[in-house]
Amino acid sequence: GNRFDGKVVLITGAGSGLGQASALQVAKEGAKLSLVDLNSAALEETKGKVLEVTPNAEVLLITANVADEKAVENYVKDTVERYGRIDGFFNNAGIEGKQNLLTEDYDFEDFQKVISINLSGVFYGMKYVLKVMREQGYGSVVNTASVGGIRGVGNQTGYAASKHGVVGLTRNSGIEYGQYGISIKAIAPGAILTPMIEVYLKQIDPVNWKEAADELVQPNPMKRFGKPEEVAYLVSFLLSDQANFINATVIPIDGGQSNK
Ligand code: NAD
Repeated sequence: GNRFDGKVVLITGAGSGLGQASALQVAKEGAKLSLVDLNSAALEETKGKVLEVTPNAEVLLITANVADEKAVENYVKDTVERYGRIDGFFNNAGIEGKQNLLTEDYDFEDFQKVISINLSGVFYGMKYVLKVMREQGYGSVVNTASVGGIRGVGNQTGYAASKHGVVGLTRNSGIEYGQYGISIKAIAPGAILTPMIEVYLKQIDPVNWKEAADELVQPNPMKRFGKPEEVAYLVSFLLSDQANFINATVIPIDGGQSNK
């Protein structure tokens, strides 16, 4: 049967990239979706793509800023009101923040901004979803970290701090919630070709950004970007029952980059 028949999956950052690809994958496998993003047009686009592949999918769209605690409390409440439960939570929304600056040149406002979305946003999501999952006695949470959350990369002060924080939250809360049948894991993607990476490359070189792309993948053992679909296969596995015993840990998906 389908791994997500009768299951409810909540995804943040579902309007683009990894969130969108994962929504498509779990819907194909039977999940009812609750999709959250700051950008409502992007959410509509994801819904259109889901229905193209899975015409009978149930899709709830919620426009919300994950950095706003009240908005997070509400997206969790709206999801439970609509579906009665949350089986899988892909806690994924994030931004790059400022890049290519020495730490001494990194403004505190820029630091706070990336922390408020990438780290506080993930914390709020866990805070409200884990309460629901504990009452159910079941659930899987996948938080999006990064290679920059498990090793030093350089030139990404705020991002690195936020993503290391996501790994810390994952390890800590996984220990707390395992006893309730809930597993919590993080993924650490390397460079995956999503709109986020395109924006980043166009910042480096607005004209010849494809060359900047070639350069970016040179240090990767596989000399290529990952594809959003490849991350979606991992995320769907981690959200499913099959991965229940994978807990309080972080899984790289980076072509080997983090092992160099
Ligand atoms: P993306 O920019 O394509 O998609 C991110 C989505 O999150 C967008 O739809 C955006 O509107 C939404 N979003 C941004 N801020 C938000 C907020 N405050 N509230 C709600 N929604 C918000 O990016 P992506 O590449 O799919 O990235 C998804 C996650 O993966 C991020 O956490 C990112 O840090 C992480 N990541 C990406 C890569 C990569 O190479 N693409 C690598 C490692 C980690």
